[in-house]
Amino acid sequence: MRKIIGFITVFLILTGCQEKDQEAPVLLLNKSRVQIALNTSFDYLQYVEKAYDRQDGDVTDHISYNEIDTSSVGKKTVHYKVTDQAGNQSQKDLIVDVVEYVGDLINPITAQADIVENPDDVTVLVNKLHEIPKGWKPDDLEDVIDCHQQLRHEANEAYTKFYQAAKAKGIAIYTISGYREPETQQLYWDNSVKVFGEEHAIQYNAYPRRSEHELGLCVDISYTTEGDRLSEKVADSALGKFIESDAYKYGFILRYPQDKVRITGYSYEPWHIRYVGVDLATKLHNENITLEEYYEG
Ligand SMILES: [Zn+2]
Repeated sequence: MRKIIGFITVFLILTGCQEKDQEAPVLLLNKSRVQIALNTSFDYLQYVEKAYDRQDGDVTDHISYNEIDTSSVGKKTVHYKVTDQAGNQSQKDLIVDVVEYVGDLINPITAQADIVENPDDVTVLVNKLHEIPKGWKPDDLEDVIDCHQQLRHEANEAYTKFYQAAKAKGIAIYTISGYREPETQQLYWDNSVKVFGEEHAIQYNAYPRRSEHELGLCVDISYTTEGDRLSEKVADSALGKFIESDAYKYGFILRYPQDKVRITGYSYEPWHIRYVGVDLATKLHNENITLEEYYEG
């Protein structure tokens, strides 16, 4: 009899324990960083992928968050929190860049950029919101195969193979522009602003220290030596098609695709290829995503 009572007691304790919910709800966001235009309203729940608790089910209604000020430009953070009935809590952060847009392009002059910590890494993300540290320069630049433009060693090895593969198929290919000194990029920018105005510069020039050309990992290429060599015509050329179909096999991506302007913050550039290594390039190619989407969802 004592044995039976003991058994029942243990049973009750065990089942009692099981009923107490000690598991925090699952809170998933579909992005880790987003950009929104200055003075627009922000839809907070749009970025919640899932808020679910094993005991309570869907807990989306229990999500709380701080509101961000979208009336000033800058990098803001939304802290999402969700609590289940038993008091278990989960949290997730979303970085929100409130930016000024000029057309579809982010205005880099007012944008608050992060300084990147890994400029030596071939997979580094540099754009209008991610800036190369002041004074950083690559230390392994070398001339490309057909002129005195330069790339970093690893990127250049890959580019040489890509270049030779194009040639072997009878495709015309000319290097136009590779590495750019930070001072040169600054000069381009300043001149453009001075001569044509800010709007023009935003449209046609990269902001100093936020240009991939300063990484020594990208190159502008053309199919022709005549006329406007870097135009959308590159896309329709044999070279443009070869970039689309084969560049990733050599570790390059088409960095600024036509349908991703709002995401990259840059206009369509069918001539600009960026080295990220074969593994990452293959992933981005297969999933049809940009570097921004890879890092920030
Ligand atoms: Zn370029």
